[in-house]
Amino acid sequence: MAIEVAAPPAPKVVAEAMPLAALAESPPVDAIGVLGGTFDPIHFGHLRLAEEITDGCGLSQVRVIAAGTPPHRRAPRASAQQRFDMVCAAVNGNARLVADQSEIFSEQPCFTVDTLSGLRAEFGAQTPICLILGADAFLQLMTWHRWRQLFEIAHLVVAQRPGYTLDQSSLPAPLAVEFEARFNSDARSIHDRAHGIIVKVAITALDISATELRAHIAARRSARYLLPDIVLDYIRANTLYQDER
Ligand code: ATP
Repeated sequence: MAIEVAAPPAPKVVAEAMPLAALAESPPVDAIGVLGGTFDPIHFGHLRLAEEITDGCGLSQVRVIAAGTPPHRRAPRASAQQRFDMVCAAVNGNARLVADQSEIFSEQPCFTVDTLSGLRAEFGAQTPICLILGADAFLQLMTWHRWRQLFEIAHLVVAQRPGYTLDQSSLPAPLAVEFEARFNSDARSIHDRAHGIIVKVAITALDISATELRAHIAARRSARYLLPDIVLDYIRANTLYQDER
């Protein structure tokens, strides 16, 4: 018997700020999330993070933004195109997650504060924009370029990540001050204003990291069920992460 397989929907990709005419035709956006990362490769830890925060905060969409040349860390193993392809494959079929290429092909280091400013210009002054961070990333926030300005543009939505403690006493002093002033225990409070609030959202703890995943692949161990099959197929087809580095 022939099995019919529905053609996958065209991937949703956002390149630059949309023209006003296109914005007028788009469905209204209540609040958006922004999940940045190296995505070398994207895995279920990232995808559950985006999915559960979308529900927890009531977001219309999450822009998944792969970093081009990350300012904080060494060069990724997969190329920009490959990492972006994997993000597109992973979010395909989920209308709430949108692959955003505003950073990935830039030859200059991109800073989150600038990317968020671009989104603020795109969505207008009133739309809540939420920068989504795992606990490890939040603990490093003070190393980010113009980190205090992030609060002038976006809310911060922070999720637990196995292996990282997220309480006020574990934060460096200047970050603890911001946390104390801005924290709201209600994740839906992000709808009360456009930026400036910090919320924490409890998500399913998945102890998955891209580093460990690459190590599995290099050691010829199975990485199945840590990331979408379609991404694993891409990794195999492109012989990525074959050696430890
Ligand atoms: P690497 O191991 O190469 O450092 P990673 O798996 O930590 O990669 P990143 O691209 O650095 O992935 O992470 C992007 C964002 O996703 C960060 O905010 C990070 O905290 C968050 N994140 C990654 N993995 C998880 C996870 N398993 N649970 C919760 N948050 C996660």
